[in-house]
Amino acid sequence: MDQQYRMLIDGELVPGVSSFDVINPATGEAFASCPKADEALLERAVAAARRALPAWSAQSMDDRAALILALANALEEGSGEFASLLTREQGKPLDQASYEIMGSVYTLRAIARMRIAPKKLREENGNTIIEHRTPLGVVAAITPWNFPVILLMNKLAPALLTGNTMIAKPAPTTPLTTLLFGELCRQILPAGVVNILCDQNELGALITGHPGIAKVAFTGSTATGKKVMASSAGTVKRVTLELGGNDAAIVLDDVDARQVARKVYQGAMTNAGQICVAIKRAYVPAPLYDDFCDELATLANVAIVDDGAKQGTTIGPIQNKMQFDKVKALIEDARGRGTILAGGDALDRAGYFIPPTIVCDLDDSAPLVVEEQFGPVLPVLRYTDIEDVIARANDSDYGLGGTVWGKDVARATAVAMRIDSGTVWVNQHLAIDPAIPFRGVKQSGLGAELGEAGLLEYTQAHIVNAVALEDA
Ligand code: NAD
Repeated sequence: MDQQYRMLIDGELVPGVSSFDVINPATGEAFASCPKADEALLERAVAAARRALPAWSAQSMDDRAALILALANALEEGSGEFASLLTREQGKPLDQASYEIMGSVYTLRAIARMRIAPKKLREENGNTIIEHRTPLGVVAAITPWNFPVILLMNKLAPALLTGNTMIAKPAPTTPLTTLLFGELCRQILPAGVVNILCDQNELGALITGHPGIAKVAFTGSTATGKKVMASSAGTVKRVTLELGGNDAAIVLDDVDARQVARKVYQGAMTNAGQICVAIKRAYVPAPLYDDFCDELATLANVAIVDDGAKQGTTIGPIQNKMQFDKVKALIEDARGRGTILAGGDALDRAGYFIPPTIVCDLDDSAPLVVEEQFGPVLPVLRYTDIEDVIARANDSDYGLGGTVWGKDVARATAVAMRIDSGTVWVNQHLAIDPAIPFRGVKQSGLGAELGEAGLLEYTQAHIVNAVALEDA
């Protein structure tokens, strides 16, 4: 525990009022200590972000973009250190951690290139109406533990580009990469533009209720998202909610079952299934079902489940003990209802390891099918009728993503059009692009992140409606 981590307030690296352990999920043991903020430090951070606001929002978009690009360069230079710390706190295999860091660099650069120009809404008979886009003020970014770095960049880059200042609060189990990023912010940005505070789930409600914060950009579970929305009502705060999902993969009957099984496996098991848009249930036509399940089981059986820091690991541990226990309980329940074709038991070693688990023969009411498992466990469900399977896929409170797999792309696209989700991919998965808006429907979210729509969510419309004075 030799490295000291500090929070960032008003351009200063500050210790906490106390600290808490950060656990490496591959060992179940603490490897670092994280400083913890209290309400007084939150007040200091909000005051600093408000003080920094006038000068920051007065800079040109080009000048702010240049500093975002400088952050991208610094993150790229430090990518090795960031990736190994990410693996240690989050658990993901090192190659996937590097991918998240380089994806973060790419996101910062892509968003720094975007611009918003004033829009002329009318110019006639001496009347000019222009819609300007002005910053909201202080934005809070609240992030979860599955992709702690890139999900922060998705918020920080558009917020700063459009002239807002920020308070970032990482999840309690993965705070360190955010704190390390704070050191880059301290070197590159004016004091107070980005402030970083850590907690053990106590600060969220104080942030969402704070009158000095104009917007909360939240990514996390639907249950917490509802609390964010309720608590933000008191100050009519803007909220963007990127919440949970229970994405269905619909396999059509014209595919090679084994080829598509390999793609679906990746979509379900990457990051040990801890992705909001991971494939969380697969619907397969009855004639392809056995081959499809068999191929999934073969892949699951050759997975290398180990510490993400070890070369060759394909599946790391579940990120935290609470999630580990939740996934184990869902598997235990499924054991009594269906057939476990591969995996099924946590590894008998320290750390939170669950091997890729393939479950067949469940019916749609099983908790593993209805709930968001957020782990390396995939239920595979049989269907015979396409209308029926579309209805089953849509029978969920969630509506985040989804995939359709078919040789006839036009037919697969027609099915995709009928899936009630924010994004549906056809014959691919996880094609998230900073230029394309991403959003959940139903209880998967509110508002967009990324793309022009995402950028606009960090601004408010300011209409200036002018006419000339008539001659006196
Ligand atoms: P979580 O809801 O438990 O925590 C998310 C964040 O909210 C953490 O920083 C936490 O400290 C904070 N928080 C806790 N209580 C709060 C409160 N009352 N007010 C405000 N903030 C509070 O989520 P998690 O378990 O860390 O993340 C997993 C969930 O995130 C999954 O459901 C996953 O699908 C979802 N997710 C969604 C997206 C998306 O883009 N839609 C992306 C990644 C993850």
